[in-house]
Amino acid sequence: MQIISSKLIIKPFCITIGLWFILILIAGCSHAQEDIYTIRRERMVIDQIERRGVKDTAVLRAMRTVERHLFVPDLYLNSAYEDHPLPIGSGQTISQPYIVAYMTEVIKPQSGYKVLEVGTGSGYQAAVLAEIVAHVYTIEIICELANSAKERLETLGYKNITVKCGDGYNGWDEFAPFDAIIVTAGAEDIPQPLIDQLKDGGLMVLPVGDPYMVQSLILVKKKGNRTITQDLIPVRFVPLTRDK
Ligand code: SAH
Repeated sequence: MQIISSKLIIKPFCITIGLWFILILIAGCSHAQEDIYTIRRERMVIDQIERRGVKDTAVLRAMRTVERHLFVPDLYLNSAYEDHPLPIGSGQTISQPYIVAYMTEVIKPQSGYKVLEVGTGSGYQAAVLAEIVAHVYTIEIICELANSAKERLETLGYKNITVKCGDGYNGWDEFAPFDAIIVTAGAEDIPQPLIDQLKDGGLMVLPVGDPYMVQSLILVKKKGNRTITQDLIPVRFVPLTRDK
């Protein structure tokens, strides 16, 4: 009869228990990390967005749902829910959370809407819109950003966002007219192709002004052949560049 030493049994047993402990610890930590983001997101909505007067319940729900930390580079994970824009590479930025919520609210998004966004960037604004409306078409002039946003949005399961690389000044004729348009880069004028591609009665919001100064956020309403514009708030956006 063979006698197995108790050391031979106890050692592997301890290793197994140790490994389980480490795994549970890792799982616990990543769960705790997710909880931290959820708490920060809730604070962001209350302190930065509701407190400044955004009331649209669908917009508030979307801002609570979209995980902003998944749209920023790793280096800025800790700042993802702070009250300012953040770099996203290629010299571009993801807008301040409040500005995203405000621009989304002013176009009065409805569940059946087809919306055009110019300036995909990280894809965050497109994701917020896609939580509310039927379909978002979004154009980004820097193909590297367009490709990474497309991949990110696909991974997150957004089936109602179509991304393309191109000059958004010209809009996206193939899918026009749009119920609403959001431009997230500062233009020197209101692009005529975008007015043409807006439905009658539709709303467009865009920053207009000197690209290197403070611009005005403008709300444009299309009424037949006329447009009615309204100055909203001063903003600072990266410039709307043009394809040469
Ligand atoms: N909405 C983005 C942030 C936009 S920053 C987000 O949620 O992350 C503005 C973006 O507009 C930049 O990525 C910039 O490359 C892009 N852009 C500038 N000019 C453009 C143009 N003519 N057409 C399309 N995108 C443009």
